[in-house]
Amino acid sequence: MASEYALKQQKYLYPAMKTYYADPLVLVEGSGRRVKDVTGKEYLDCFGGILTTSVGHANPEVVEAMCDQIRHIAHTSTCYLNVPLLQLAEELASLTPGALQKCFFTNSGTEAIETAIASARFHTKSHWIVSLRHGYHGRSVLATSLTGHAPWRLGTSEPGITYAHNGYCYRCPFHQTYPGCDVACARDMEELIRTTTDGRIAALIAEPIQGVGGFITPPPEFFKIAVDIARRHGGLFICDEVQTGFARTGDYMFGIQHWGVEPDLMVFAKGLANGAPIGATIARPEIADSWTASTISTFGGNPVTMAAAIATLKVMKEQDLPKHVAAMGKRMSDGLWKLQERCRFMGDVRGKGLMIGIEVVREGKAPAADLTTAFMDAARQEGVLVGKGGLYGNVLRVTPPLTITEAEVDEALEKLGRACDRVRDL
Ligand code: PMP
Repeated sequence: MASEYALKQQKYLYPAMKTYYADPLVLVEGSGRRVKDVTGKEYLDCFGGILTTSVGHANPEVVEAMCDQIRHIAHTSTCYLNVPLLQLAEELASLTPGALQKCFFTNSGTEAIETAIASARFHTKSHWIVSLRHGYHGRSVLATSLTGHAPWRLGTSEPGITYAHNGYCYRCPFHQTYPGCDVACARDMEELIRTTTDGRIAALIAEPIQGVGGFITPPPEFFKIAVDIARRHGGLFICDEVQTGFARTGDYMFGIQHWGVEPDLMVFAKGLANGAPIGATIARPEIADSWTASTISTFGGNPVTMAAAIATLKVMKEQDLPKHVAAMGKRMSDGLWKLQERCRFMGDVRGKGLMIGIEVVREGKAPAADLTTAFMDAARQEGVLVGKGGLYGNVLRVTPPLTITEAEVDEALEKLGRACDRVRDL
């Protein structure tokens, strides 16, 4: 029987806002890597509210910074400056690679994507955008149009967007194998631009690891080749770090640093403020300066959100999270590969750091969405929350808060192992 919460959901919420699980989970409390539902059952959180709770639920330093800021001033609008806004902008300029320097703050990843695309179009005076298939960039009309992922699209699309191949080695669109393929997926962009645009593009937009797409992780040369092609056609590189940013992929602060390419613009959201609503776009100064009209975001740069982000970055630095994430990510993915020996439905385990995807398949790599859902249910019963993604809804996403401890990784692996055993013969 549906719970009272499920009944209210059906009555008052858009059904398009799909929740996980047939019996939706209602969370009421969180601390560190643990959350509690409305019945009092506790879970080890291995999804972090879509890679957003980066330094743990109710992190004391973040909570204190937000409360302290509220006591001083909770809102200014962008008609006035506030001190944390300037502090965060300066910090992002120093953390990001290359010449990225000027920020615009918003409330969500979607708005930050809009800002980046408009900036690129103003700067280059071109309209065409190259986006990657299987990519996800948000829910506005423009961001949905940039999204090369059918289940998240409906109705009309903005003109001026063309979709390049991604680096999906497990299901290579060219039916080749890396490295013998010579990274044909990235090289194909040249012909795509020549045949489907007027030859001058405003930007290539891409996630270093495709999040909603199912943690598709392109080969090492992918971005050097693709960004070079984009630049030769006048395009800027907009790197969507909404999921991969801020230590998530381990070793570095940003996902793209694994590929050794410097973006012209970067887009942030999710993990930057540990759950406070935030979007940020950072650009090279001359690109930001090309936006000559006025623009405003009433809540963008909100001092409480800015304080949350500053405190989150402080925790990341103090705990050297890029290094910690690399170590915990290795421990988790080694454990998952080991699990694969007895759970053959785990077709691929991929990603970087604590951004680990498990592609769930049957014979001949057939996507197994039903098994993925069954696994999530089983994991929930065992007391672990994981997410899912992928064009076919068959990729489990394991992305705990970055502060997860060794003991918690081992606990997650043990519980996920039991969940595997429950469903592997289905
Ligand atoms: N880009 C990426 C890579 C994302 O994963 C998301 C959100 N899932 C967005 C943009 C949009 O962010 P938001 O939901 O905050 O608008």
